[in-house]
Amino acid sequence: MSDYMHSFELFEPASIGDASKLINKFGKDGWIIAGGKDSLDWFKDRNKRPKAVINIANLKELRGIKDNKDYVSIGSVTTLTEMEDSKLLKKHFPVLIDAVSRIASPQIRNAGTLGGNVAQDTRCTYYRDGFPCYRAGGNTCYANTPTAMNREHAVFDVARCVAVTPSDTAPALVALEAEMVISSKGKTRKVMAEEFFIGPATDITRMTALKKNDILVEIRIPKKWAGAKYYFEKVADRQTWDFSLVNIAMVAKTSGGKISEVRMACGGVQCTPRRMTNVEDLLKGESAGPEMEKLAKRVAAQGAKALNYNHFKIPLMGNLAARAVRSMA
Ligand SMILES: Cc1cc2nc3c(=O)[nH]c(=O)nc-3n(C[C@H](O)[C@H](O)[C@H](O)COP(=O)(O)OP(=O)(O)OC[C@H]3O[C@@H](n4cnc5c(N)ncnc54)[C@H](O)[C@@H]3O)c2cc1C
Ligand code: SF4
Repeated sequence: MSDYMHSFELFEPASIGDASKLINKFGKDGWIIAGGKDSLDWFKDRNKRPKAVINIANLKELRGIKDNKDYVSIGSVTTLTEMEDSKLLKKHFPVLIDAVSRIASPQIRNAGTLGGNVAQDTRCTYYRDGFPCYRAGGNTCYANTPTAMNREHAVFDVARCVAVTPSDTAPALVALEAEMVISSKGKTRKVMAEEFFIGPATDITRMTALKKNDILVEIRIPKKWAGAKYYFEKVADRQTWDFSLVNIAMVAKTSGGKISEVRMACGGVQCTPRRMTNVEDLLKGESAGPEMEKLAKRVAAQGAKALNYNHFKIPLMGNLAARAVRSMA
């Protein structure tokens, strides 16, 4: 029955308040949709069948990129293309532009939103194909067996599930110390990007701090990192329309030829973006150069444990860290 969606009721709320009421009303039977690029896959495969789909893509209050005094605000339903075209983001946070421009294809970026990008579910083949694994409420992991297909899976911090977040913006937002603004039942709370992405040990049924009644309203990026040195690289099997195997995002400041501040995060290696604090620590106060490249390469993947088919991620992480350091030299 692939490509043939189940029937559901479609709602087009006119405000966040209305959207929130609908989500509360339908609870587990409700599903927020923005660009639909992740959601429609689930529906077409018939592995998720919500009774009510609540489309928030047309809510003007959730769209747009605004310059505030201390931060830049990106509305959650702002499309990835709108981000790519934003002069403000290009000027202040080119690392995010590099990450966005490597997502999927122009067509997908035209509809896909930043909110949907960070809230999307994992692409683990078994889970997406409807296998009753831990994440789907079952009692086994099909990806962590001697013969399983686990090339895309985690090398760090596994807890029953070995799946990773596929979001390319996630490591850039973590590096930039972004803050996620979430609305729930009329109340608003803020969560740092680093805490927004959650691992299976916290809750195996979710990939983010978003709960069923939550709407991600905006993503705020502090100007602290505006104009910083930066690096983003994504390694995938194909140059376009493909998910990352491993990606890396870095922002850094230098003073008198030395690295004064640096934040580095790596995607595709654990369920959540991985802060590379061991690399950051050794870089601070040093000058970028061949010696630091070598050291970064050596420590980047320390503690990683490969599955059967993803050993390549360990040297790849080291090489990406070294290249990030080289970009500063
Ligand atoms: C062929 C293909 C290739 C892709 N390649 C990449 C890639 O290379 N890199 C990458 O990062 N991604 C990739 N994606 C994943 C993804 O589709 C896009 O990144 C896109 O940004 C998702 O956004 P959306 O608005 O379409 O999501 P939707 O499908 O609308 O939403 C995704 C999820 O987020 C939830 N959600 C959306 N907005 C909100 C909100 N404001 N508040 C609360 N929950 C919300 C939805 O309920 C749903 O669970 C790819 C997708 C496809 C189909
Ligand atoms: S890696 Fe996670 S999502 Fe994939 S089969 Fe195992 S438990 Fe399920």
